[in-house]
Amino acid sequence: MPGISAPEIRDIPVPQLEEDEVLVRITQVGFTRRDRLAMEMDERSMPEGSDFLVTGHIAVGRVEEAGSMVNDFEQGDLVVPTIRRDCDHCIDSRVDMCVHLDLSTNCGINGSHGFARELMIEKARFLVKVPTELEELATLITPLSVAEKAHMELIETRQRYNFYCYHDEDKVTPKTLITGMGPVGILTTMLTSLYGYRLTVFGRREADDERSRIFEPLNLEYINTARVSTEDLEEKGLRFRQIFETTGDPDYIMNVLPLMDANAVSVLMAMPETELKEHQTNPRTTRLLRNLVEKNQIILGSLKSGKDAFESAVEHLEELASIYEKQLKQIITHRIPFDDFEELFKLDSREAILPVLVFD
Ligand SMILES: [Zn+2]
Repeated sequence: MPGISAPEIRDIPVPQLEEDEVLVRITQVGFTRRDRLAMEMDERSMPEGSDFLVTGHIAVGRVEEAGSMVNDFEQGDLVVPTIRRDCDHCIDSRVDMCVHLDLSTNCGINGSHGFARELMIEKARFLVKVPTELEELATLITPLSVAEKAHMELIETRQRYNFYCYHDEDKVTPKTLITGMGPVGILTTMLTSLYGYRLTVFGRREADDERSRIFEPLNLEYINTARVSTEDLEEKGLRFRQIFETTGDPDYIMNVLPLMDANAVSVLMAMPETELKEHQTNPRTTRLLRNLVEKNQIILGSLKSGKDAFESAVEHLEELASIYEKQLKQIITHRIPFDDFEELFKLDSREAILPVLVFD
């Protein structure tokens, strides 16, 4: 793959365990587009003073040893680490909201090592306990926590609509759109299905494609936007009260936002990494801005997640697993033994949703 730095195995010393830290033996590491992008970023991703980056921002492990001040974890506990490491002066646990982006880092993405290693030492406050029954599905907790945060932010934002209009059936079951079918898109769809919203998913696959079929037991409408343009959908009057955007493609975002209804909230959940191509002079952009003002709309950004979102992800994964266990297992498309880690980088991204490296 051009641009990606060749992955290699290194021996890294495990530091001394401090009193507020936990020694974790990693058992599974998930691999997504985000990890691939971090590897392409090369030295810009590396922690200070390091000439390499340990990849992997999604992991599951077992506690080997807990420091003397740690009360919440003991040997053998199943844990998932959070991603964001704060500026060290944040006064609450929502370190994902720290404004000092220059001081905070993201494990396996930028500034802090990730989790694709046998052993790691982590502060207890960056670990989330997971029930043993969820072990096989536990790599889904990190992407589900991204959906949790976006949904919580949206709910808080919607509190401003303290009125009821009798024309407005959507007030009870808001029409909700999810764009994108990566792990975050699929899990956002599953999570929001628990809330009884009327769901539509936009993807760029055929409806009978293996990935689209994950949605089969869910009560939703699937639209392949490779076949139908969002402009046509807009003209036909399709509108949404809530939009969860997970593609991070800026042109796609600009095509989808005009589908916001009055009072709508859109949550942008993936970082746009590329430049806008089509929209600088597009009349839809002006209309979008006019709608924002006239129809009281909100576009909200929500990236990654804090510990509270991870904790609700654990609870909701238990609930989802009791309904959609088969579909959740289908999201983890590959389980690759650590010794064959190079296989991970040869996978076709159309096929692989969330491949997982398994350590024995
Ligand atoms: Zn801070």
